[in-house]
Amino acid sequence: TLSFSLFVKAVEQAPVAISITDKKANILYINQAFTDVTGYTAAEILGQNESALSDKSTPRQIYYDLWHTISRKQVWHGQLVNRQKMGQRYLADLTIAPMFDDRGAISHYIGMHRDVTQAH
Ligand code: FAD
Repeated sequence: TLSFSLFVKAVEQAPVAISITDKKANILYINQAFTDVTGYTAAEILGQNESALSDKSTPRQIYYDLWHTISRKQVWHGQLVNRQKMGQRYLADLTIAPMFDDRGAISHYIGMHRDVTQAH
C-alpha cells in the first residue's frame, strides 16, 4: 500500500516546481524543483508572497485573469515572466489550482510551473 511518506516524497521529488500557498498567495511549501527553477531555498521564500517571483514586466491583465479564475474555483494556466533569486528572467509556464476544505471552500492554492524560456 501507498504510505503517507511516499506521497510526500512524490511531491518533493516531482520534476515540476510546486508550491502550496494560502488564499493570498503567501508561500507555505515548496518542493526541490521549485528551488532548482527559482534559486530560492525554503528558508528564503517560505512566508513570502508568490509575487516575489514576478519580474513586474508581466501585463496586469494576466494577474487579473489569474485571480479572477482561481478565486472562482477554476484552474488557471498561462505564461508569465518570472525572475530568479539571482535576477535572471525566465518564462514560466504556470498552472494554479485551488485546493478545497471539507465544505468545498477554497483553503489553499497549489502552483506548478516550469521554465519554458528555451522553448521560445
Ligand atoms: P497583486 O496581484 O496586486 O498583488 C498584491 C497582493 O494581493 C499579493 O499578495 C497578491 O498575491 C494578492 N492578491 C491579488 N489579487 C488577489 C485576490 N483576488 N485575492 C487574494 N489575494 C490577491 N505571480 C508571478 O508573477 N509568478 C508566479 O510564479 C506566481 N505563482 C503563483 C502561484 C500561486 C499558487 C498563486 C496563488 C499566485 C501566484 N502568482 C505568481 C501571483 C502572485 O500572487 C501575484 O498576484 C502576482 O505576482 C502580482 O503581484 P503584484 O504584487 O504585482 O500585484
